[in-house]
Amino acid sequence: MSARTILIAGNWKMNASIGMAEQLTGALTAWSARDGVELLVCPPFPYLVPVNASIANSGIKLGAQSCHAAESGAHTGDISAEMLADVGCTYVIVGHSERRTDHAEDDATVRGQGDAAHRAGLTAMVCVGETEAERDADKTLDVVATQLTGSVPDGATASNTVIAYEPVWAIGTGRTPTEAEVQDVHAAIRANLAARFGNEMADGTRILYGGSMKPGNAAGLLALADVDGGLIGGASLKAEDFTAIADAAG
Ligand code: PEP
Repeated sequence: MSARTILIAGNWKMNASIGMAEQLTGALTAWSARDGVELLVCPPFPYLVPVNASIANSGIKLGAQSCHAAESGAHTGDISAEMLADVGCTYVIVGHSERRTDHAEDDATVRGQGDAAHRAGLTAMVCVGETEAERDADKTLDVVATQLTGSVPDGATASNTVIAYEPVWAIGTGRTPTEAEVQDVHAAIRANLAARFGNEMADGTRILYGGSMKPGNAAGLLALADVDGGLIGGASLKAEDFTAIADAAG
C-alpha cells in the first residue's frame, strides 16, 4: 500500500454566516496541524472568498460543494469549476447524495462535473453510497459499483480524485455501518478502482468515509485499512469536534 495522506473534509452544506465562518476558520487555523493529516473546508459558495482569506498560509484546503460541467455560459445560478479554482478552491465535492436527490443529479451529471473539476485543475471528491432500502436488500456493493462506473471520470488519477463513501441512511442520522461493513465497502471500492485504473491509482487514491462521523467514532473508522479520512457534515460546524476528528486520525 502506498502512503495516503489522511484527508479530513468538512462539508458545511447550506449552513454558516460570515461571522460563523470567521469564528470557525479562526479556531481551525489555531489547531496545530499534524503530519499526514490534511484539513479541507467546503463552505457555501458565498463564503469561499472570505474563508479563503481566513485560511491563507494555514495549510487548510478550500473546496466547494458542487460545480457545473460547463466552463461558462447560459446557466443561471450555476458556478463553474474554473470559477472555483479562480477563488482559491483546490477541491470540489461532486455527487453528494443531497445533490443527487435535491437536484436530480445522476451518474452522468456527476461524471461531467468530475471532468469539469479535472479540466479546471481541481481534485474531484466523488460521493457514492447506498440508501437504507438498498442496504436492506443486500445491494450495497452493486449500487456503489454502478455509481463508481457511472460517476468517476475516465481521467481520474490518485491525485485528482478522492472517493467518499457515504451511506445515505447514515448522513445526519447518528447511525453508521459497523466498522467491518465500512471496511468491506472501502475494500470493494479500491478493488473497483484497481480493475478500471490499475493498482497504482487504486493504492494511491484516498477513500473517505462519510455519514455521522463524530469525535466518538472517528478513531475506529479512521483506523480501518481502506479508510483514508472522513467527509464530515454536522460535526464540521463545530471546530472542537472537527479538530477532535482530525486528532483521532493516526
Ligand atoms: C455529509 O453530508 O457529507 C455528512 C457526512 O453529514 P453528517 O456528518 O452530518 O452525517
